[in-house]
Amino acid sequence: MSSPNGPMVKVPRINVVEHIVLPAEESAVVIVDMQNDFVNPKGKLFVPSAVKTIKPIRGLLERARKHQVMTIFTQDTHYPNDPEFSIWGEHVVKGSWGWQIIDELAPLPGEIVVEKTRYDGFYGTPLDDLLRSNNIRHVVVVGTVANICVLHTIASAALRWYKVYTAMDSISALNDFDYYLALRQIDFLYKGTIVKKAENIVFEGLGIWRRQTR
Ligand code: ZN
Repeated sequence: MSSPNGPMVKVPRINVVEHIVLPAEESAVVIVDMQNDFVNPKGKLFVPSAVKTIKPIRGLLERARKHQVMTIFTQDTHYPNDPEFSIWGEHVVKGSWGWQIIDELAPLPGEIVVEKTRYDGFYGTPLDDLLRSNNIRHVVVVGTVANICVLHTIASAALRWYKVYTAMDSISALNDFDYYLALRQIDFLYKGTIVKKAENIVFEGLGIWRRQTR
């Protein structure tokens, strides 16, 4: 079958679980690029489906904080003349309103924010060192965009042999193809665990991560 835009494809079976329990002290939550330019309708690269992920991500974040699970925010960060602007146009310029993480998911003082210049949250950042030096083995990755920065960050984590997880209601893409492509790769290629709803990611015990409040 084909459509005017190319072949029609069928999404292969993707394994989804209802519920997972993770040990708080060996787990981290990575919230990818939930910044005004991507998540706010006034943003420069607005992803409409990202809006409905705010609530489940916020719930996950609150439970992670309660269980002292290491929480890391990535912040896509570009400086003037970034070569990526030839693909996407100007976005998340450091210091701009669009660059800021949305208010609903704002990091607390002392929480880790990793500024990244590329799709992959590990590329040129201290992310691997932060996870490794805290003995993290399980990495939950949520945020946007599913097939871009979320997928590249999950891929990069999996290639370093972290166990990776995501939730279907907590990632977003510009269209269904991109969304299911990301899930397919996370499941099939990176052996990640996909949970239907973020609220069913449960942390057991207390993590080692203590937030500094001043
Ligand atoms: Zn970018």
